[in-house]
Amino acid sequence: MSLHAEPISLALSMPFRIAHGTSTSRDNVFVHVDEGVGVAAITPYYPAQVPDVLAYVARPEVAAALEGDPLLVEDLLDRLPSGPAPARAALDLALHDRWGKTLGQPLYRLWGLNPERAPLSSYTISMADDAEFRQRMQEAAGYPVLKIKLGSGSLERDEALVRMAREAYPGSLCVDANAAWTANEAAAIIPRLARYDLQFIEQPVAQHDREGWHTLAARLPEDMPPLIADESIHDSRDILPLAGAIGGINIKLAKCGGLREARRMIALARTLGMKVMLGCMVESIVGVSAAAHLAPLVDFADLDGNLLVVNDPYTGMIWDQGRLHLPSAPGLGVQRRG
Ligand SMILES: [Mg+2]
Repeated sequence: MSLHAEPISLALSMPFRIAHGTSTSRDNVFVHVDEGVGVAAITPYYPAQVPDVLAYVARPEVAAALEGDPLLVEDLLDRLPSGPAPARAALDLALHDRWGKTLGQPLYRLWGLNPERAPLSSYTISMADDAEFRQRMQEAAGYPVLKIKLGSGSLERDEALVRMAREAYPGSLCVDANAAWTANEAAAIIPRLARYDLQFIEQPVAQHDREGWHTLAARLPEDMPPLIADESIHDSRDILPLAGAIGGINIKLAKCGGLREARRMIALARTLGMKVMLGCMVESIVGVSAAAHLAPLVDFADLDGNLLVVNDPYTGMIWDQGRLHLPSAPGLGVQRRG
C-alpha cells in the first residue's frame, strides 16, 4: 500500500467574500492511497489546517489501518484513528476511489443510484459592493438556482443584497447567512427576507448556538422558508440536538469526515423528516465530484465549489449551467490533468 499527501494552494478567479472573511486562495491536501485519490479541503474558519492534515496522514497507525483488502472499505475506515475531519475525509475519498477503480464502476453505480435524480445545483454569489454584486448577478442570470451570501454586518445591507438579487433574477433564490446573526436579529430579518420568495435560509445563527436555533424556530411565523443548518451540523451526532428547530441539514464531506458518514447523515435526517442539502467548500473538483455521487439522494445541491478555482490539478464532474453530470469513470471519476 502506498500513501502520500500533496498540499496545493488553489488560486481563485475572484475574491470570495462571506461572513467569515475574504479568500483569494484556498489550501487543499490531496491524499493518494495506491491509485485512489481524495482531498482535504481546508477552510480558514474551521480549526484543521494543512499541518494538521499532514501530521494525521503521517501517523504510523494511519498507514497500518489502511493495510488490507481494498474492497473492505468499511473495515479499513473502522480502523482509522480519530483525527481532523478534512484529513479523515481525504482518506475516506481515496479508499472509495480505489474501491470503485478495483470494481471498474463509478461510486453512484455501486450504490445503485440514478444520476438523473440529482437536483440542480445552486451557484453562489458572494458579497460585494453594489456595482460588483450587480455584475455577478448579471453573469449568473442563466443559472437555475442562486445562493446569495449574507452576513455583511448590517441587516439593512443584507436585505438590500436580497432586494438587488430579486430585482435582477426571477429564478430560485436562497440565502446563506454563514452564522452571522443573533437569534434576535434572525427573528427580525427572516420575515422581511421571506417576501423575496426564498427557497430556504441557511445558518442564520452562530455555529454553537443551539439555544438560538430553538428560540428562533419558536419565534418565527409558520409560513417561513425552511431553515437549513450548515456550520452547526458537522456529523450525525449534531443532528438530534437540533431536531424540531431546523428544517434541514447541509452535509459537506470536509466537515463530516467522508462519504460513509455523509450517507449515515442522510439516513438520519430522512428518518427525522428533514430536508437534505449536499454542499462543499471552495475546493478541488476531487471533493466536489465525490459529493456529487450522493446527489441523487438529496433535495438541494450546492456543488459549485471548484468553479472559482483556476489551477485545479484534476478534472471530474461537469457543471453545466447548474445541471450536474456525474462522472462515469470508475471510482470518483476524477482525472489528473496532463
Ligand atoms: Mg453554508
